[in-house]
Amino acid sequence: MAKPRGYCAGVDRAVVTVEKALELYGAPVYVRKEIVHNRHVVDTLAAKGAVFVEENEEVPHGSVVVFSAHGVAPEVHDQAAERGLKAIDATCPLVTKVHKEARRYAEEDYDILLIGHEGHEEVVGTSGEAPEHIQLVDGPDGVDGVQIRDPEKVVWLSQTTLSVDETMETVDRLKKRLPMLQSPPSDDICYATQNRQQVVKDIAAECDVMLVVGSKNSSNSVRLVEVAVQHGARSGHLIDFAHEIQEDWLDGASTVGLSSGASVPDNLVQDVLAHLAQRGFTSVEEFEPVTEKITFQLPRELVTDLRAAGRA
Ligand code: SF4
Repeated sequence: MAKPRGYCAGVDRAVVTVEKALELYGAPVYVRKEIVHNRHVVDTLAAKGAVFVEENEEVPHGSVVVFSAHGVAPEVHDQAAERGLKAIDATCPLVTKVHKEARRYAEEDYDILLIGHEGHEEVVGTSGEAPEHIQLVDGPDGVDGVQIRDPEKVVWLSQTTLSVDETMETVDRLKKRLPMLQSPPSDDICYATQNRQQVVKDIAAECDVMLVVGSKNSSNSVRLVEVAVQHGARSGHLIDFAHEIQEDWLDGASTVGLSSGASVPDNLVQDVLAHLAQRGFTSVEEFEPVTEKITFQLPRELVTDLRAAGRA
């Protein structure tokens, strides 16, 4: 078993934000987009009274709306204000850091090459900070299409949940075209993504099969399967739930690797362990080369209301 795995500080904060908002304001609390990309988490919050919507227009005037951990463009805040919504922003602080970098480089009139996956909510939100300055580079193959104004004033930033190795490959190709390309002041790929990938790399070669618990729309979860196979696992599979494990995946396997994406609660991993134990995989070893201690405070607007209600 890989550790760290599962919940990161940003996901934990986002989920607790919705739970506390439900307790404080009462149901329904509207949530724009999936709060985090995990089916089980979304269904559990929906059962408690969260209503998931795609856009602010679906939220009744004056209601409470929570923005997801992936971040939103500034115009989404403006729309919420126009509708008189009480907006609580659960954007992960590490995504907010990338937004700030984008704003700063745009103010200095840089061309910004944002490495990320087209259409991903985080990329849409970050691009919205400075659409006239930001170009998306979707992996190494996106490099050839890049167009810039001044080769001495260009910087790359990235989505927080990418493959570290593939991102560096993209950067290397960009630097061949643009030798003066500047790098972000600190890593944009977040600590949680990097740690989960590193542990999977460390154990992959010993695994006949790598199982990653996570949803198909979870970027960091999908990357973990790719990383496992690239680093020696004979096969890798992404599953939301233990019952999705197909028996033939385990045929001939003596060692199964297990990890989970940053939006996955650990009870789903424990279900997989129980499923594997029933099939003879009873000896469990946890490999934890790094201990994570990061936590984030809840959004300020929620903390203010919790304090006013004597609940914080
Ligand atoms: S994966 Fe990283 S950026 Fe995304 S919520 Fe977790 S800590 Fe934040």
